[in-house]
Amino acid sequence: MTQTMIGERPLPQPDEDSAPYWRGCNEGELRMQRCKPCGRLRFPPRPMCPRCQSLESHWVPVSGRGTVYSWVRCHPPLLPAFQERAPLLVVLVELEEGEDLRIVGNWLGEGAEDVAIGQPVQVVFERVNEEISLPHWRGMG
Ligand SMILES: [Zn+2]
Repeated sequence: MTQTMIGERPLPQPDEDSAPYWRGCNEGELRMQRCKPCGRLRFPPRPMCPRCQSLESHWVPVSGRGTVYSWVRCHPPLLPAFQERAPLLVVLVELEEGEDLRIVGNWLGEGAEDVAIGQPVQVVFERVNEEISLPHWRGMG
């Protein structure tokens, strides 16, 4: 396990299951795991299909569009790495592909004051380093 210094921004540590997801983000494409036998999309990445228990899956690109399912505005005190971004709007987005595919991310750009449940959003990637690009969200139209 990698140690994170206080003040450093905590970053994802891709593992065997999630590496293809993070590779997709780094290439500017949101990808989901799809079960081979039953076709169900799932997230977060894991070895077994929750519907049919198959271990066979592959990765497919998804639209990167969704709607705000829930949100929270984070105010200080926050971890030092997030302090300068406060108030930070964190959204839980349900992808338009449905099937309970929900992803947490930061809201980037305008409209943070007027965020609303059900609002359409589009993924946008923030490159942090060579390996990690974080998926965040911005309002559409
Ligand atoms: Zn399945």
